[in-house]
Amino acid sequence: MNENIFSSKETNLCKNIPFRVFVRIRPLLEKEKVLISEKFKENSNNAELSDYLNTDESKIRLSHISSSESYLKKEKIFSFDYVFKSNIDNETIFSNVIRQQVDNILQGINATAMMYGITGTGKTHTMFGDIYEEINFEKGVCMYAIDYLFDKIVQARESVEFKVKISYLEIYNEQVKDLLSNKEENDHLMVVEEPNRGVFVPNLSEYEVLDSESVLKFIMRGNQRRTMAATGSNVFSSRSHAILQIALNQKNIANKIKDESVTSKFLLVDLAGSERGGLEKGIRAQEGSNINKSLLALGTCINLLSDKSKKGSFIPYRDSKLTRILKDSLGGNISTIMISCISPSPLLYDETVNTLSYASRARNIEKKVFKLI
Ligand code: ADP
Ligand code: MG
Repeated sequence: MNENIFSSKETNLCKNIPFRVFVRIRPLLEKEKVLISEKFKENSNNAELSDYLNTDESKIRLSHISSSESYLKKEKIFSFDYVFKSNIDNETIFSNVIRQQVDNILQGINATAMMYGITGTGKTHTMFGDIYEEINFEKGVCMYAIDYLFDKIVQARESVEFKVKISYLEIYNEQVKDLLSNKEENDHLMVVEEPNRGVFVPNLSEYEVLDSESVLKFIMRGNQRRTMAATGSNVFSSRSHAILQIALNQKNIANKIKDESVTSKFLLVDLAGSERGGLEKGIRAQEGSNINKSLLALGTCINLLSDKSKKGSFIPYRDSKLTRILKDSLGGNISTIMISCISPSPLLYDETVNTLSYASRARNIEKKVFKLI
């Protein structure tokens, strides 16, 4: 257990923590290999293709590919806090970036982890792993985080009393839906802000959980309720934003003098696909434009917050449900990390450049976070 809990003399410790941004490159999928070989079959230049994407620990260089005129693109270089290459698994991502966020909530610092990128680049895989696969089951960072949290709770339960509650919501078409409730009225929840409570969603169901198995059950139940694509395919909609909240309440029982309890929160955010125009053109146009509304608003807020010359300017968090809920994750007292997922396929050059530009801008956000205990 982190020995800082409740024993720290520095209360409300203020720390400057930047908004950290990581990139994860997933492996090339079989269907992408086929598409690439079709596209480049006439004048394929394997050396050039394999040189398309280069990385070191913190940089990504997308190279010029001349094999096909439509892919005559400029070289671009982007910097991040760390770039995870395609051979890196979820467990490594957990232990390098997510575990620290769990340590934060144990120390009374609110935390957020969000997955960003176009559909098919590995956001859900990173968050939840192959949750429905029977073979090759890989846990998501979210499950590693929950296991780790409960391990820490068991280690510290002599001196600290913990309560863990979870809630899970989806923003789809600018509607907030409770993923853990079957009640129809919970399909259209409000987002409210109060001065001493911050932003919250009244009537969102919250369940106390005692172990990681029960959290997993809730997540599975919630994921099944995530809005499915119009085609009825059995995949999560690429158009919904899902936010899992783990609220950790802790009370020091060893120290009889200090009796108050404190609640810190961890938001795990699986954002909708960031592609422009949509991958299934024509299907649910309305839906697409509303999803864009949330993602566009997120982009606007990130741009303003990351621009030092605009310091102090008005941030339009109220423009979308997503930015209202993520207000403190973006500009307030929450330590936030973003994992931007990309494909290594040169056929997705434009979208990859968009993702990386968006994500590298977020790195300029400066945050101050303080301990609640
Ligand atoms: P997204 O949620 O961004 O739309 P998914 O997580 O559903 O994308 O991933 C799309 C496909 O790519 C899935 O079949 C998934 O199993 C596979 N995939 C994604 N990331 C990885 C990875 N790191 N390793 C292996 N397969 C991956
Ligand atoms: Mg997904």
